[in-house]
Amino acid sequence: MTTAPPRHTRPVRVFSLRLWLPLSLVLASGVMFLIVLVAQQQHYQRELQQFADTTAHAELLETRRALETVLRRGDGTGTDSVVSQLGLDPAIAHAALIGPDGNVIAATRFAWRGHSATASIPGFTDEAVQQVRQAQREFLQLDQAQLRLTALAPVTMGLQPGEIRATRQGLLWIDYDLRPVAAQTWAQLRQLGLMLAAAVLLAVLGLLLLARRGILRPVAALRAGMQRIGAGDFQHLPQWRGSGEFRDLGIALEHMAGQLQARSTALAESEARFRQLSDAAFEAIVLHENGRVTDANAAADRLLGTPPGGLVGTPILSWVAPSLLDSTVQRIAQGAEGVWEVDLIDTQGQVIPCECSVRKRPLGHRQVRVVALRDIRTRLAAEAEIRQLAHFDALTGLSNRRFLLEQVTQELAAAGTQPRRAALATLNINAFQSVNDSMGMAVGDTVLRIMSRRLSALQQQGQTLARVDGDTFALLLPDLQGDLDAASAAAARSVEMLLAAIAEPVEVQGQVLHLSAGAGLVMIPNDSNDAPELLREAETAMHRAKDAGDEHVHFFAHALQEAASERLALRSDLRRALQTHPSPLVLHYQPQMDSGGRLAGVEALVRWQDPRRGLVSPVHFIPEAEASGLIVPLGNWVLQEAATTLHRWQSDPACSAWAGPLTMAVNVSARQFREADFTRRIEDLIARVGIHAFALELELTESVLVEDLEATLEKMAQLRRHGVRFALDDFGTGYSSLAYLKRLPIDVLKIDRSFVMDIDAPGHSGQGKRPAVLIDAIVAMAHQLDLKVLAEGVETDAQHASLLQSGCDLFQGYRFARPLPEAELRAWASQL
Ligand code: C2E
Ligand code: CA
Ligand code: CA
Repeated sequence: MTTAPPRHTRPVRVFSLRLWLPLSLVLASGVMFLIVLVAQQQHYQRELQQFADTTAHAELLETRRALETVLRRGDGTGTDSVVSQLGLDPAIAHAALIGPDGNVIAATRFAWRGHSATASIPGFTDEAVQQVRQAQREFLQLDQAQLRLTALAPVTMGLQPGEIRATRQGLLWIDYDLRPVAAQTWAQLRQLGLMLAAAVLLAVLGLLLLARRGILRPVAALRAGMQRIGAGDFQHLPQWRGSGEFRDLGIALEHMAGQLQARSTALAESEARFRQLSDAAFEAIVLHENGRVTDANAAADRLLGTPPGGLVGTPILSWVAPSLLDSTVQRIAQGAEGVWEVDLIDTQGQVIPCECSVRKRPLGHRQVRVVALRDIRTRLAAEAEIRQLAHFDALTGLSNRRFLLEQVTQELAAAGTQPRRAALATLNINAFQSVNDSMGMAVGDTVLRIMSRRLSALQQQGQTLARVDGDTFALLLPDLQGDLDAASAAAARSVEMLLAAIAEPVEVQGQVLHLSAGAGLVMIPNDSNDAPELLREAETAMHRAKDAGDEHVHFFAHALQEAASERLALRSDLRRALQTHPSPLVLHYQPQMDSGGRLAGVEALVRWQDPRRGLVSPVHFIPEAEASGLIVPLGNWVLQEAATTLHRWQSDPACSAWAGPLTMAVNVSARQFREADFTRRIEDLIARVGIHAFALELELTESVLVEDLEATLEKMAQLRRHGVRFALDDFGTGYSSLAYLKRLPIDVLKIDRSFVMDIDAPGHSGQGKRPAVLIDAIVAMAHQLDLKVLAEGVETDAQHASLLQSGCDLFQGYRFARPLPEAELRAWASQL
């Protein structure tokens, strides 16, 4: 709805009706009055003229006739009565009969009689007399200015003796005073004027009243109405009775108010909706303009502890931790946009680490910044906890196997670049199982804790002491001085001191136990360049020591050759196995259940049926395959086999009850994933076998991601575009950075078995670490990132119940089924 812009911007000239309406009326009536006056004046003059022409003229002739009649009779006295009769007429000032000799014969004023008329009568002139005498007829002279009328008429005097015809002429003179006549006329005029004035006044009043009712009041009402509308009151608008233009205007105004109201209601509603929306958001959202907060949602007030609306008007920088102020000021000055972490200080002075995302948005002609803040305290705490759990053994407080291996890896890396020696020792308590069996697990745990304390007491700066498994401890001794012999001797001495400490009697529950241990030692560097391999070597040496019942440290060197040749044999057997038909490799399938107890998918796990070794576990041959590069053909075989099997199930009517929506999870090792043609192979496989891409789930470990994150992301994204799903395997054992997870296009997070195991493990109940809480945190974070969580290694009902409670989505473990050969899996799934 657009309206054309006004063509003229020139102002509209207006005037005040209140002033100009009466003024123009008065002016108009003044003009009218003048016209009337002029007309009246003419009328008055005509009136006077008419008086002279008719009334005075008739009177003159009549008097002359009367006088002549009297004079013919010769009655001299009769003239007096005729003339004095004239004196009775109020209009006549004076009258006189003048004889031919010029003397007054009779007059209204007695004193004039017998006297010369010229001398006695004022204003009497001989000229007039001459005129009348010559013309022999009456003469009237009107003096408008003096308001006088002089009427003269010849009068035939009576016969004188000897006369046949009266030739003597007298003169009748009448002097009219016209003032009374004029006065009367003027009185009429005045009356007319007054009437006119009254009429004008009435008209003005009437018009004013009309203007007031018809214009001023409606205008005032409209103005008031508009002010109301301006103030947002759309209800109390003027009511209109009657009809006319103002009513039309009023209706138009009402219509406008209605539209405005509808629009402002819609606006208010949409604003309220947006406010609710923003208040419902978990994220704190703050808008600021030039550093001053203009808007904030409820979550922002909650985050910073301000009362509702309390953030508005405050400088945004006042909430930033002082240490980050400079960098934040710089970011604002540069107009930076993006996501970064920042520490905020709330009203209580508490530091809140946040992730903030800043975007610039135009608002009319202005620029506002939209800052979304997310409290990452829980995330950081979870990360710290996961790191803690990933590195420490909950029972003894020592480092765990994982941390030890990390340290060994670092040592290996250091030894590669500079000449230095280190040693890795493992110790295992002899016959510890019998302590557990005879005195119970709790006592066993106590003994382990006592031993840990003793070993820790002997631990030197820089050394790493770990519990790597049950009753096995390990010590990493870095920075050994001297040549190989000297270093070996120093290491052996240190380990023997540990053995001596273990051999000290232990008193538990009133019983004194005498324990001993066997120890193995491997020197770093040696031929192995892999931490788990080094640890295995130390353990091999340790088992030899135990088998021999030796209380001295055994060095790995003795066993080196044997193990190395065993590894070589395994590798070449595996290589052969990969080329043998039918393949001695088989896949077992372990069910993955959803929270409703339905079969959601299976994980394909490879086994090797070796004629000499029996059924070999992947735990033994996968590391060898990885180390030798055989993992690539092996992995391809697994992918092919798993996809074919899935296709077989999905096309077999006997499996239709469960195979339709099934996911096939396949483990992909880092080496295999990094192959240049990996994505193409998967695409080919899907097309060739004819399965849905989304039915294939590739399980990757974090080790895949660390090497070249960008290339990995690229590969994952490409496969994901086809629909292939990804699971992150063994979560919690690697870097476990949840922030990092956000960038990965994964669908499922597989919580490592070690977390699940801890749920109902004895010895954990009293410890600070409660895995369920940790799992809660992981699940919450994963769900926030839209990931499903699968718990691995679920063995007991208690674990299952706890995991369900934590909100895990999928479950896998012996509680449901072990990895099963295909035929068994079919039978198992069918009776579900
Ligand atoms: P993974 O991927 O973490 O697989 C799960 C392992 O946990 C399997 O061991 C499985 O048998 C075991 N497991 C499942 N449920 C339970 C349970 O409730 N309790 C216990 N204690 N264990 C449970 P498996 O089959 O011996 O495989 C070991 C590892 O070998 C796998 O760990 C995986 O890393 C690797 N692997 C197996 N098959 C393949 C494969 O085809 N390719 C690659 N690259 N690696 C494979
Ligand atoms: Ca797996
Ligand atoms: Ca796993």
